[in-house]
Amino acid sequence: MPTLSSTLSYATAALLLLVSLHLLLLRFLARLRRCAPFPPAAPARDVLRRGLKKKECPEHADVVVVGAGPGGLAAAIFLGRQGKRVLVLEQHDRVGGGLHTFEEEGFEFDTGFHYCGELNEGKELRCIVDSVTGGNVQWSHLEDCPVDPGVYDELQVPGEAPYLVRAGRQAWMEGLRSRFPDEKDQTALDAYFNDCKTVGETFLLHAIWRSIPIAWVRRVLRPIMAEPQLKLSTLNAGKRLNELAGHNPHLMACLTYLSLGCTGVTPNNISFGVVTGLHNHFGEGAAYVLCT
Ligand SMILES: Cc1cc2nc3c(=O)[nH]c(=O)nc-3n(C[C@H](O)[C@H](O)[C@H](O)COP(=O)(O)OP(=O)(O)OC[C@H]3O[C@@H](n4cnc5c(N)ncnc54)[C@H](O)[C@@H]3O)c2cc1C
Repeated sequence: MPTLSSTLSYATAALLLLVSLHLLLLRFLARLRRCAPFPPAAPARDVLRRGLKKKECPEHADVVVVGAGPGGLAAAIFLGRQGKRVLVLEQHDRVGGGLHTFEEEGFEFDTGFHYCGELNEGKELRCIVDSVTGGNVQWSHLEDCPVDPGVYDELQVPGEAPYLVRAGRQAWMEGLRSRFPDEKDQTALDAYFNDCKTVGETFLLHAIWRSIPIAWVRRVLRPIMAEPQLKLSTLNAGKRLNELAGHNPHLMACLTYLSLGCTGVTPNNISFGVVTGLHNHFGEGAAYVLCT
């Protein structure tokens, strides 16, 4: 007669097997994947720039999306294409969230968007962006940029020579290693690169764990599926970076400027997962908008 604990062990083992098979299948599909064909973009409506009056809001909506940043807008577009009536609510007087544009003295400014990672052909984000834009946005890789090819940022630390940040994981790591040859800095960099690797490798498993709808299954699987990611990602970025590189403010600046620029907040106000996640995001280089 099987006991409760042995039944639970069998159930957990079966679940683990299912999850592993699922992961293998995802990996296999990722190799085969090509972007699905996308419908032509709808003509831009002036509501995007002038805002929506209350009386223009539909009375009944299937889905309400709060926030018209890129995430909310993309979700709304896909839901709309599935035939849902979607109402997007935005507190600001324009859409775009962190990536909105505004005009001053006849010039149009972008608040954020200057480059983006994970946009190589066939990548998930590229499929989403192409689908949302109807393929009307052309991208060029920083490696192909005629000015300083492959350089995506230039850091100026007072009293120091400019530091050129190169696109791609290997070039970025080598750049940092040669800029900071001191043994203590090299140890800090080794630890930081290792953290980035762990965060990157455990991200998918954690995402799958989060999507499991049954609470007790999530509880049982948490130690193996979620902990490796949570252990690092939920740390305060300022605290963790201080432990690693607090001895060298210049090195700290080189490790944190990216998250500062991409989120607008200092490391003490974000998780370590965001900082390392951003470096992983640019692991295969970056692309910028060529023309629209
Ligand atoms: C200075 C800067 C530079 C950046 N540069 C880049 C870059 O080069 N490349 C890149 O890929 N990314 C860049 N980013 C990051 C990018 O802006 C974000 O990743 C992106 O905007 C996140 O999209 P989101 O939809 O998740 O959230 P957000 O863009 O933050 O959108 C959330 C929206 O929800 C609205 N909202 C929030 N609460 C409510 C509420 N209660 N009711 C109604 N509305 C609400 C907000 O007003 C906002 O419009 C940059 C960000 C900053 C700040």
